[in-house]
Amino acid sequence: ATEIRLAARPHGLPTPADFSIVDTEIPSPGPGQLLVRNEFVSVDPYMRGRMSEAKSYAEPYELGKVMHGGAAGEVVESTVDGFAPGDKVVHQLGWRSHAVVDAKHALKVDAELAPLSTYLGVLGMTGHTAWVGLHEIAHLTPDDTVFISGAAGAVGSVAGQLAKLNGAKRVIGSAGSAEKVRWLTEDLGFDAAFNYKDGPVAAQLAEAAPDGVDLYFDNVGGEHLEAAIESANLHARFAVCGMISTYNDTEAVPGPRNLMKIVGKRLNIHGFLVLDHGAKQPEFVAEVAPLVAGGQLKYSETVVDGIRNAPQAFIDMLGGANTGKMLVRV
Ligand code: NDP
Repeated sequence: ATEIRLAARPHGLPTPADFSIVDTEIPSPGPGQLLVRNEFVSVDPYMRGRMSEAKSYAEPYELGKVMHGGAAGEVVESTVDGFAPGDKVVHQLGWRSHAVVDAKHALKVDAELAPLSTYLGVLGMTGHTAWVGLHEIAHLTPDDTVFISGAAGAVGSVAGQLAKLNGAKRVIGSAGSAEKVRWLTEDLGFDAAFNYKDGPVAAQLAEAAPDGVDLYFDNVGGEHLEAAIESANLHARFAVCGMISTYNDTEAVPGPRNLMKIVGKRLNIHGFLVLDHGAKQPEFVAEVAPLVAGGQLKYSETVVDGIRNAPQAFIDMLGGANTGKMLVRV
């Protein structure tokens, strides 16, 4: 078996030396446990936060311990009724080729219905996050002009398409390359998109949203948040999902300079965590799985082969190498 452990706490952008790759014995399941052979492990921005010592909503990783996180694989041994070899499950024990999982923390999924990888992405945590942000947090309506940052990522690409499918008036996305911008407008049906590296975000957003923004889905923070406040209409709603532009900062940077406009525009800015919305997961799957199966909701996965390449996949994801969900095929 192989596992990826945290070797050092990164300063700024993580480097390969912050991880160690360790070969171990394949473990055996005890009572109430399953041995899972992982097929895919998930590569997620929030893992950067857990590599730091600072306490946050997710526990910091311990030095020398495995990088926990989403993973999907096949049960090879089970001591538990209701789980049999061959079953496919999702669990949270992360970057390793084999995991001994407490059955009560394993979610059985149907890999006949949709490919196993999708339960880590469009039908998994990131798709659920998009759905929660739009519906439960920002209360999307057909009158809305919607702006989504990080739009070509796992969460953003689902959020933009769901906004369109739910009849939003206009959906605008920002992303970090011309090819991602093309994908958003030509393949995913965004009404407009821009490359935030081409020029100031505020000017590009103002041009893409001449009538202002009613709903902002923030994945990026920083300059994007300032621009969204600038373009926001009265009573606009902001679903604040993440601020990836800040995750590698070594010092806290000053926030948007126009925060006072939150008052004049009566903005509703609402941070959220998908983990508080587990009860809505079945409703999300019931709505989104048929859209994926029917092809109305498209998804992309950037899949890197080999568990040993998970650290580099993570570093590359932070730099924008992925379109849609970043995964490692074990
Ligand atoms: P993505 O698939 O969007 O991957 C990260 C992307 O971030 C990269 O591809 C890159 O794309 C972009 N990025 C990196 N640095 C910057 C920067 N400085 N400015 C702008 N964009 C940048 O990841 P996810 O979809 O998994 O996550 C998206 C956001 O949602 C993150 O902020 C994450 O923390 C958050 N999140 C929050 C959850 C919650 O419960 N609140 C749950 C899950 C995710 P590009 O080429 O466009 O730069």
